[in-house]
Amino acid sequence: MKLLIAADMEGVSGVVNWEQVKPGTSEWQRFRRIMTEDVNAAISGAMESGVDEVIVSDGHWNGDNIMIDLLDPRARLNCGSPKPYSMLQGIDQDVDVAFFIGYHARVGTQLAILDHTWSNIVVGNVWLNDYLVGETGLNAALAGHFNVPILMISGDLAVNHEAKELIPRIQSVVVKQANSRFSADCLHPKEAQNLIREGARLAIQAYQNGEGSPVFKVKQPIQGKVELKSTELADRAQIVPGVQRISARDIVFQSEDMPAAYRTFRTVVGLAG
Ligand SMILES: [Zn+2]
Repeated sequence: MKLLIAADMEGVSGVVNWEQVKPGTSEWQRFRRIMTEDVNAAISGAMESGVDEVIVSDGHWNGDNIMIDLLDPRARLNCGSPKPYSMLQGIDQDVDVAFFIGYHARVGTQLAILDHTWSNIVVGNVWLNDYLVGETGLNAALAGHFNVPILMISGDLAVNHEAKELIPRIQSVVVKQANSRFSADCLHPKEAQNLIREGARLAIQAYQNGEGSPVFKVKQPIQGKVELKSTELADRAQIVPGVQRISARDIVFQSEDMPAAYRTFRTVVGLAG
């Protein structure tokens, strides 16, 4: 069984501000190690339950966060940027199941550490058809195109709630609970990693028993809608071919499937920003 671990950083226990996830800072150096250990915990638990191949996609910032020398040697790592499938690089390579580790809630969520969707300065909100989605929904829908279910998520309480709304049977691992956007009640990393390891073990076990979360699919063709944070950003976003401006800060586009929608979304955010 082949597992893809999509790793982000904002949902690591102890992370409560941007400085801690900004490449190059001393705080980032500290938390990239903990991020790597969180991923290792997920690998251990999954392999205890019978996963025999793991690929990890480093999805935070430029994808240069996970410390490859400290990574479990049984896994391979997709790092760097840009990657064709971005946060889910490797999803098209005969993957059976996926985990989201270190995830954060979508933009506009109350009591959520560093809530944002893709870019904190560009994106107001994102919809796929009528679903309001964050990175969890966007990436789960992309995985769904390849018939890959998301079996587990780790992060703060808010992102766990968000994931359960889309995928009710997902194995949920809460490592911190926000007091505000920049403050949380956090588990010690060792304790968070115990929970991640156990969650991974249970998630794979449930999947093998036919009780894992189902594949998350969105109806095709897909209507994408992005609310930009300012009119200036929307002025630039509307230049993307196929994109239509429907109001001061909102653009829409139609895509035949999720890989196409994902590409258009990334182009909109890249050009606007
Ligand atoms: Zn991130």
